[in-house]
Amino acid sequence: MARIYLLEKYRNIGIIAHIDAGKTTVTERILFYTGISHKIGEVHTGDTIMDWMEQERERGITITAAATTCFWQPTRGGEEHRINIIDTPGHIDFTVEVQRSLRVLDGGVVVFDGVAGVEPQSETVWHQADKFRVPRICFINKLDRLGASFENSLRSIQERLNPKAIPLQIPIGSEAGFEGVIDLLTKEAIYFEGEHGENIVRKPIPESLKAEAVERRAALVEAIAETDEKLLHKFLEGETIEEVELRRALRVATINNELVPVFCGSALKNKGVQLLLDAVLDYLPSPLDLHELKPIKGVNPKTNEEVTREPKDDASFSALAFKIATDPFVGNLTYFRIYSGTLKRGTYILNSATGSQERVGRILRMHANHREEIEEMYAGDLGAIVGLKNTSTGNTLSDPENPIVLEKIVFPEPVISLRIEPKTKADQEKLGLSMRRLAEEDPTFRISGDLDTGETIISGMGELHLEILVDRMKREFGVEANIGRPQVAYKETVKGEAEAEGKYIRQSGGRGQYGHVWLKVVGLPRGKGFVFVNKIKGGIIPQEFIPAVEKGVKEAVGKGVLAGYPIVDVEATLYDGSFHEVDSSEIAFKIAAAIAFGEAARGAKPILLEPIMKTQVIVPIEFLGDVVGDLNAKRGQIEEVSDRANIKVINARVPLAEMFGYATKLRSMTQGRGSFTMEFSEYEEAPGNIAQGIIEGKK
Ligand code: GDP
Repeated sequence: MARIYLLEKYRNIGIIAHIDAGKTTVTERILFYTGISHKIGEVHTGDTIMDWMEQERERGITITAAATTCFWQPTRGGEEHRINIIDTPGHIDFTVEVQRSLRVLDGGVVVFDGVAGVEPQSETVWHQADKFRVPRICFINKLDRLGASFENSLRSIQERLNPKAIPLQIPIGSEAGFEGVIDLLTKEAIYFEGEHGENIVRKPIPESLKAEAVERRAALVEAIAETDEKLLHKFLEGETIEEVELRRALRVATINNELVPVFCGSALKNKGVQLLLDAVLDYLPSPLDLHELKPIKGVNPKTNEEVTREPKDDASFSALAFKIATDPFVGNLTYFRIYSGTLKRGTYILNSATGSQERVGRILRMHANHREEIEEMYAGDLGAIVGLKNTSTGNTLSDPENPIVLEKIVFPEPVISLRIEPKTKADQEKLGLSMRRLAEEDPTFRISGDLDTGETIISGMGELHLEILVDRMKREFGVEANIGRPQVAYKETVKGEAEAEGKYIRQSGGRGQYGHVWLKVVGLPRGKGFVFVNKIKGGIIPQEFIPAVEKGVKEAVGKGVLAGYPIVDVEATLYDGSFHEVDSSEIAFKIAAAIAFGEAARGAKPILLEPIMKTQVIVPIEFLGDVVGDLNAKRGQIEEVSDRANIKVINARVPLAEMFGYATKLRSMTQGRGSFTMEFSEYEEAPGNIAQGIIEGKK
């Protein structure tokens, strides 16, 4: 078997949109038209297409798979390409979903509502895509809607997201009179006829739009020429630049994030989607293009040396698991993207993160209306493996002979937690199972137990995130439980250093216990985590007990000395102690270590850390004073206030503890006209009086 589509004929894309902008409708139309085109390629009888379309309508198209594959041949003619569509979430509370999809896709189609233009969440996701340097094209959707404006939407994109957004089309008519689009490059008016808009009809530009089209085209040509020296020269000399040259230069500029092409239409009214697909092929990168820009890098886990991989089928296999899903038909599905090499059914792969090897059972490729079982998949492909056991989101899968850990997906800290108290013993067990399953799927979700009370504490990214997890736990796993209110996930650390002794010695009657250690505890800079150092020499404590000491310290770190929150960013050094030939045991050393750590931590200036949120509030100018005053009262630090047409954009850092219920408060302060987004920034020391309140509240 060999690959059918060359790597340069691959597009791995995500459709990114604010909720309600039309992502689902656009995706559905894409799968629909690509289905038709593929069928055209296979079956050359006239009626088949319509039959198939009717069947499709009845059966409904699957668009919920984490990665769906489809095929597209440009409407202007040319070779068929494979497009893999990676599902991206509409809501930024699911940062993990956004992050992991941005990590595995090569290009994005950003969909906007032609009435609303840029909305706050589109802004947040756009900035995240900037961080990953994802090349993008835009689609201004819903131009058929009352109140839709191509001009305003385009302006909001240019003002709020990227001034280099440049239209390649303009609409013909608007709202109920929206008929089609003008392609500025080809200088044609394009209409979408037939029941599903499947017949593309090209006509001369209507008289009424000619002047505008000429002016717009000139601006487009200039913008493209500015990105390419040769074209700029031609432009300045007044020479004609050919359409193919423009297309080629625009492709390079888009992939380099220098320009963002803008298209338009109405997915619901079947206008414009096929041209958007053409644009995906024309302007978004293939895995090969991207490799030149951002080579595939990772670390060899054996040597810790940096290594690179070529996106070639005969290179060593490497892939990233980017989503774990539970499927009602086949069970556990691990979605992956192959960066290099070939994945073959029946072979063994290494999970480089855990060090365990697993056999590749079934490999699936998801299509709009069916799943295909595959024997092999190649570099650039996306698919799912059925039944992998020890793999979680973000793990690298690689050739056992030549391991690599690809650049990690960096997940933000879970900052909100809540308590779950199962109703019965049976619920307790179901809870454990459901939590483990959910945590495999979603690495931003953490579970910890409160040993004193028997309750389970779960932590996540936001109130909505936890709400959905709790809901799934109840619905999918049938757990009955009392659920606490969402709380800030505080942490503890130490600012200074201290040494302490821990002894656990019982020597009266029967077999005794003997554990004795000296530990030094030192605070580390934020983000360094927990470090254990063993400096025992000459067998003062036998080697066999050292892991027990480390375990005891780790357990103690889980429950801080101030208010029981986990301790972060500390180094614990074991440097002295003693043992007893007969009475010493692992358990005795574990207990002694926990005692010593607690003592030392108490002596090393323990402090409470609280999560600080990077917050952006957008308000009409007349509410600026009130909103800023309120943020100050919330212990917020205003970092910048900038203008955007008639509105003010406030960037601030605010403690999460003060932000509960902010949506409601902001609404009432601004007559519903303000909006805000926030994301975790870092943990910071809570001021003394605040910390005191929290510590006392826990007692
Ligand atoms: P998503 O939340 O981004 O997935 O958005 P949907 O695709 O579910 O669309 C949200 C709503 O907008 C639905 O009621 C759609 O029917 C409607 N919609 C989507 N595209 C268009 C369009 O082009 N024109 C109009 N008028 N409505 C649209």
